[in-house]
Amino acid sequence: MKAVYKETEGAYTACLTERPVPTLTKQDNVLIRVHACTTCGLDMHIWQGKLRDCRPPIIMGHEFVGTIVKAVGESLGFSVGERVICQPHLYACGHCEVCRLGYPQFCRSRRSLGIQRDGALAEYIAVPARYLHRVPDNLPDEFACLAEPFTISVSDVLVHADLTPGESVLIIGAGQVAQLALVAARCGGASRIFLSGAETDGGSRTAGHPWPRCGSGGGSQRFTGRHCCRH
Ligand SMILES: [Zn+2]
Ligand SMILES: [Zn+2]
Repeated sequence: MKAVYKETEGAYTACLTERPVPTLTKQDNVLIRVHACTTCGLDMHIWQGKLRDCRPPIIMGHEFVGTIVKAVGESLGFSVGERVICQPHLYACGHCEVCRLGYPQFCRSRRSLGIQRDGALAEYIAVPARYLHRVPDNLPDEFACLAEPFTISVSDVLVHADLTPGESVLIIGAGQVAQLALVAARCGGASRIFLSGAETDGGSRTAGHPWPRCGSGGGSQRFTGRHCCRH
């Protein structure tokens, strides 16, 4: 199968190459044909060799949607043919301090897709059934693969920032998660939303980027440091 494979540590060592289709094991017991896999800033850091947590050789990619094509052992009610997404942080111990606080993504035992183990920038991926979630038929692949980064944005904007309808929001950054935070802020009833690029963005992300349109009841603004324009 084709896969984006980072063979060694260092910058720009990933390439599109042929890899074997994963074999199912007792642990990774569901094989998924990947329909769509998006990338975020974390993938950029892996690509640039800046993520110290990354353990090559690995197939990159952790945000995806696909269809189950094979399952062995306990598939927990999931069947071949179902469209699913998968949580990216696998094998957390469940009993250390961070696990007990509800943050398995920080567990030292975890193995995250596309970081410490093979990910989903490939035609197929094998994962444990217990990390899967079904996708509604009316949700297209290009949105379903954004579910995981959207959970980050929803939790940042609506839970941690405790947004109250009518408040204004400033989102620092302009990448994928920042733009999904804009969507979360709109859903949370923000009156005005400012999206700034981070210093490292240079202008490449803020200039000429297609911008989400504002709907009724909420305004979205673009702030580049030079001007502020209303859509
Ligand atoms: Zn991500
Ligand atoms: Zn743990």
